[in-house]
Amino acid sequence: HAKRSGKESYTHYAASMRDEVRQRLDLEDELRAAIRDDQFVLHYQPKVSLGDRQTVVGGEALLRWGHPSRGLLAPGAFVQTAEETGLIVPIGEWVLRQATGQIRRWLDAGLPPTQIAVNVSERQFRWGHLPALIDVLLTETGIPPHLLQLEITETILPDDLEGALKQMRWIADRGVALSLDDFGTGYSSMSYLRELPLDCLKVDRKFVMDMETDPRTRHIVEATVAMAQAMDLKVVAEGIETTTQLELLRRMGVEEGQGYLFSKPIPSEEFASFVRAHS
Ligand code: C2E
Ligand code: MG
Ligand code: MG
Ligand code: MG
Repeated sequence: HAKRSGKESYTHYAASMRDEVRQRLDLEDELRAAIRDDQFVLHYQPKVSLGDRQTVVGGEALLRWGHPSRGLLAPGAFVQTAEETGLIVPIGEWVLRQATGQIRRWLDAGLPPTQIAVNVSERQFRWGHLPALIDVLLTETGIPPHLLQLEITETILPDDLEGALKQMRWIADRGVALSLDDFGTGYSSMSYLRELPLDCLKVDRKFVMDMETDPRTRHIVEATVAMAQAMDLKVVAEGIETTTQLELLRRMGVEEGQGYLFSKPIPSEEFASFVRAHS
């Protein structure tokens, strides 16, 4: 097709930039409305023991947005904008309140005590009030602190390591479990890892996915397991989809995992039935 003149292509570029900016502003407005109108919901993905492939050892709370016109949206559609605008702070507060409240209701309903992991973003540490919020929620709900786990990603680490570390130590001292999510995709070095008050490492889905076909990836996972054992950390594998992956991980000594092979993230009532059926 004909080449555009410089001016034309600039006009085209400016128009598409304008569209993008407008879409982001619309999304930001919609996210504010979603907080105000309570449009978020949590789904829970079971975490199972790889030994017997079914005993539920916990769950991960995953955020969903019941958008008024676009249906139920996964975080891929909005979390980045929420992070960039800072809206992840009030949204994250809602998630923690919801998850701790749910743990309380499940205990009251006689469900076997099940640890629930909540993803927290780097912005929530920069906010500075995460330890205080967790303290309030633990006190309000009276749940045993170890039934709550926070999943943090490696991207937290380089930004404000000292500030984040202080808060993590405080949270860990309170008895809440901490887990390093998406391990292998970020920047952690051995020295960071040694500093963090972690209970658990989550091997990223990408490694689990490539493990079957790529021996080097398999060796990386093996080395991760050995390192975790040396540091007394539990290893959880995420994104297990095939029995071959499950068998490989089991042979490497990985004890727990999540993935579509066992269950997708499901609404709270379904999760409770799953726990009842597999405990
Ligand atoms: P994540 O914490 O690493 O969560 C795992 C993601 O992998 C989830 O996607 C889950 O549905 C998906 N998954 C689990 N098993 C499988 C599998 O076998 N196959 C495939 N293809 N996918 C699997 P989801 O729910 O779309 O969440 C994406 C990311 O959004 C999460 O990654 C997390 O980083 C972020 N996120 C979710 N909820 C929250 C939240 O409440 N707060 C914050 N800050 N971030 C959240
Ligand atoms: Mg996670
Ligand atoms: Mg993860
Ligand atoms: Mg991941």
